[in-house]
Order: sequence, then C-alpha cells, then structure tokens
Amino acid sequence: MKNLKYRCMKCGVCCYEVPGDYSKRIPLYPDEADLLIEEAKERNIHFKIMEDLVFPDILNKKILVLTYKIRLDNENECCPFYNKKIGCVIQDIKPLACKAYPLAIKQEDAFHFMISIDPLCNFVDQNYELLSNIDMQRIKEIFCQEYKNALIHLNKNKNLILKIKRLEYLNKIKISRKISLNDFNNYLKEWERVEIKT
Ligand code: SF4
Ligand code: SF4
Repeated sequence: MKNLKYRCMKCGVCCYEVPGDYSKRIPLYPDEADLLIEEAKERNIHFKIMEDLVFPDILNKKILVLTYKIRLDNENECCPFYNKKIGCVIQDIKPLACKAYPLAIKQEDAFHFMISIDPLCNFVDQNYELLSNIDMQRIKEIFCQEYKNALIHLNKNKNLILKIKRLEYLNKIKISRKISLNDFNNYLKEWERVEIKT
C-alpha cells in the first residue's frame, strides 16, 4: 500500500458511457466547450455537448450555465475524441476533468463540492480495497499529478459558486433555493442562457 502509485492502464473505459441506467458526466467549463467545439470542427468530428450545472435566475428569468458535459449518446457511446488505436486524440487540450481523472469533483449539494476517487476507473477497481477509506493526504501521494489538476478543478468550481453568490449579494441575480421540478423544467424550456465564467 505504501508504494501504491497511480498508473493509467490506457484501457479507455473512462471515455465510454457506462452500461445501464447510470449516465457518465464528463464536465466542461464554457471556455473548454468552445475550444473543443472548434477542435471538433477542424478535425471533422461530430461532437455534441449538453448543459450540466445550471442555476435558474428568477430575477432576470435566465438560466445561468456554469458547466456543460460531453454527450456520449452516440453510435459508439464514447467521447468523439477517443480513438481505439491511440486513445485520446486531444491530450494537450483535454478538459480539466479528464486531466484530473480518476479523481473527480463530487457535488455534495448545489453549492458545495469535494474531491473524490471515481470507482469506474479500472485502476481504482483493481486496487479498490487499498483505496477504500484513504485520506486526502494519501490521495495526494497516490494520484500526484491528477491531484494537482483536481485541485485546480475544485477551485474553479468554488470560484464559480463564489461569483454566483457575489452577484446575488449585489442583487443582480436571484437564485431560488426552493423550486419544484415542474417549474425548473419550464424555466429550462423557456428562459435564455447566460454562461458564467471565472
Ligand atoms: S477528451 Fe479525451 S480523455 Fe476526455 S473523455 Fe474525451 S477522449 Fe477521453
Ligand atoms: S479508466 Fe482509469 S486506467 Fe483506464 S484509461 Fe481511464 S483513467 Fe486510465
């Protein structure tokens, strides 16, 4: 256990949808989404995204979009930038979430996040017993580079939430804390989008 160090097995599992009802999230910040859309155009790759973390601003009747996610509901049920022979074809510009993986940002509630280990990674699965219940210090030692990226990812999420709270404090927006699913779905259908960037 002391010498356990993360090494990607290059199996590609993390770039595929998970069989069954669970839907995988590969989040993208708006600037990352723009970059990948452009990259996909240049490579003639069919790339689609959908909204992920959003807040309804009931003061301005707008949907605030903090993150998107890569759509995996395609023919291969896979990220379009994954190539079976060479793996990820955009290593240098892949999203922060992919650079941090198998560490992921788990959402505790609408406004709070924490770093966690994704059990869907093959390396994690094979070392599951050893990785169960380890503290953040051990996570940092085992997933050295991924931890640094996960920290950037986490801080970016925290800064986005801080921005939302600051806008609320200044009465420029109002986020409803109590909202029915029905109302939320109606807002999603009707309201304009505004991207929130750090
Ligand atoms: S961007 Fe690269 S690493 Fe991330 S899901 Fe797509 S193929 Fe995999
Ligand atoms: S599932 Fe884990 S081991 Fe496999 S390619 Fe992804 S990060 Fe690497």
